Amino acid sequence: MIFLNEIRAVLTPKVIVFKEMKKEDEGIYTFIFEPVKPLEWCAGKHAMFFITHKKIDKAMRLFSISSCPSENKIALTTKIGENPSDYKKALLELKPEMKMKLRGPMGPFVLQQARTNCFIAGGIGITPFRSMMKEVDISKQKFNGIIKLFYINSRDSFLYGEELKEMDNEKTSTEFFTDNQVMRNRIKQMTSQNDNTVFFVAGTQQITTSIKQLLIELGVNKKNIKTDTFIGY
Ligand SMILES: Cc1cc2nc3c(=O)[nH]c(=O)nc-3n(C[C@H](O)[C@H](O)[C@H](O)COP(=O)(O)OP(=O)(O)OC[C@H]3O[C@@H](n4cnc5c(N)ncnc54)[C@H](O)[C@@H]3O)c2cc1C
Repeated sequence: MIFLNEIRAVLTPKVIVFKEMKKEDEGIYTFIFEPVKPLEWCAGKHAMFFITHKKIDKAMRLFSISSCPSENKIALTTKIGENPSDYKKALLELKPEMKMKLRGPMGPFVLQQARTNCFIAGGIGITPFRSMMKEVDISKQKFNGIIKLFYINSRDSFLYGEELKEMDNEKTSTEFFTDNQVMRNRIKQMTSQNDNTVFFVAGTQQITTSIKQLLIELGVNKKNIKTDTFIGY
């Protein structure tokens, strides 16, 4: 049923209106939109975002929605370097009230009740997890599971770092890593403690492939591993 709803969501384009851009850090920006018609989705999903204010080649990119449904806005957060693609140049040109189109939301990330949800984020791969954790935090939804976020960035600069720390409580915790081996050891510890854990991995292809392989080697059933690979990095 969820799958059919997502196919329907992809087939139906939605207009979103640009409201504002926020610089999160050097080279990292959040673009905030409001949907013209109410949009229902659950935290952790990604969507296809289409540039419509000018003609460019490859006018679509996939982005995880970094906001959560209870924030009542659609946000995407992305890296924009010194030599941006035409798509990202077009994002930077957006002015308030300009429109884009969205197809979706969709994707395999759904928070699991009554289980340990272990989120593993590499760099910008934090975006779907920020959405899921913020939703639990704001909506005070009846969440009877556990969230453990392992967040790695070798540059020791963590997008949403402060916000994530503030969300720490008895059910939700974040551990920050700058060293891959240290994080891998922590993941090993995690798999030996509890077999009721579902693992969610997001980031570059290199990260999702290597962590998935590690989890499989550690005996985690494939059905308990969900990945969002940020193709394009
Ligand atoms: C499910 C999902 C969620 C994502 N969420 C985010 C997010 O939250 N934030 C974020 O910043 N980015 C996210 N991305 C990545 C995003 O879609 C862009 O690819 C990325 O931001 C780079 O865009 P760009 O315009 O800078 O570079 P691009 O112009 O897209 O190109 C960068 C390089 O990647 C190559 N490339 C592009 N697309 C593909 C492809 N499909 N297969 C193989 N190679 C390709 C290009 O040839 C080029 O060499 C996500 C991707 C996916 C699939």
